[in-house]
Amino acid sequence: MSEDSRAVRPKTKGRKPQAASLAPQGRGAVPREATGKQKGRIVHSQARSRQTGRSVHREQKEAEAVLMRSRFVGCLLGGAVGDALGAPVEFMKRTEILERFGAKGITAYAPAYGRIGAITDDTQMTLFTAEGLIRTWVRLCTKGIASVEGMTAYAYVRWYKTQGLRPHPHYGDREEAGWLFQQEALHARRGPGETCLSAIRHMTVMGDPAQNDSKGCGGVMRIAPVGLVMGQGGSSPSDTFALGAKLAALTHGHPTGSLAAGALAVIIAEIVRDKTLPEALVIARACLRKHVHHEETEQALAQAQRLAASPIESHVAIAQLGQGWVAEEALAIAVYCALTAPTFIDGVIHAVNHDGDSDSTGAMTGHILGALHGQAVVPESFLAPLELRDVITEIASDLCVFREWDIGECEDVGGRSNRALSETVWQKYPGF
Ligand SMILES: [Mg+2]
Repeated sequence: MSEDSRAVRPKTKGRKPQAASLAPQGRGAVPREATGKQKGRIVHSQARSRQTGRSVHREQKEAEAVLMRSRFVGCLLGGAVGDALGAPVEFMKRTEILERFGAKGITAYAPAYGRIGAITDDTQMTLFTAEGLIRTWVRLCTKGIASVEGMTAYAYVRWYKTQGLRPHPHYGDREEAGWLFQQEALHARRGPGETCLSAIRHMTVMGDPAQNDSKGCGGVMRIAPVGLVMGQGGSSPSDTFALGAKLAALTHGHPTGSLAAGALAVIIAEIVRDKTLPEALVIARACLRKHVHHEETEQALAQAQRLAASPIESHVAIAQLGQGWVAEEALAIAVYCALTAPTFIDGVIHAVNHDGDSDSTGAMTGHILGALHGQAVVPESFLAPLELRDVITEIASDLCVFREWDIGECEDVGGRSNRALSETVWQKYPGF
């Protein structure tokens, strides 16, 4: 579907306010077509100039689209690779890791959950975050109204139902539709966070923040898709921060549990807009400081940047940042590893060889580096055995183009809607 949808002309009609935060903004950033109408030139020269201008413009647009898709796919695949590398050592101390894997620690996939390249709850929930964003858009285009918090909460209920637990108290027997839920390999328990399970189990009003005081990293670890979508759409850093924080707050009630997610969403969004990581951090930290209770996340990020600029050995620096079980530490470790790594794979290796939550810090480092450098930096040797590689690639590709799909409200858009595509999209990402 992604291939077809890329060929579909983007809609230009105004969007409904309920999902304004997802709507692309700042389209003016795209270079305008050359007019070629300078006076005093002979006619064929004008025509040639126009043709060249259009051709340059088209090539520029195509190159931008290729780079954008590479960032989306790189981000989600990179995160999954970091997650899978950290999975076997999530609950091991660094000394135990070195004892088992040698002086360099774990540098290649080892068996976890009965296979090589197994992803964990971090990647599972990231995929459901992406699905929630896409299904919000599908609902908006079809029904004219959608709440991104409510739709993402439903996506997390679907993830909950993949965990083989007792039925969800409110949605236990509901038949689940949609392509992502139908992926059998996703129906597996991979060390799910108790906070996420409990918060989702207790959801009554979909979209309301969790009533707990957790600042575990389960909110920030899954938030990268928000940064991708908001960055591509040209949303303001404050809107991006707010959405990242809100979606993390669906399960994590402590301010740091959601503020760290807001910060990571802005970091990813600014990277998508071609900023360097240090530039993205300046913007994310400025956004963060506008919120009450920002102090511990801000201090963690400041410490990560100080350590990254120091000659301290990476494993010593990471130990100073914490273990990553809580949101601000996980974010700080990921930022430190992304800032200091000479290559993508060095970054995720540093991010998993420590005492703490290796798969989450590996995943978040992979998200940042994959978005920063694109898909090509993720080695094929790590992609070939990666569980659900095709599914991750497909949803990342869909996430990159879903706002260009001509779906819903056929009559209102003067016949530009594509009924067949609308039906195909609805089957894959139903708007409920
Ligand atoms: Mg995990």
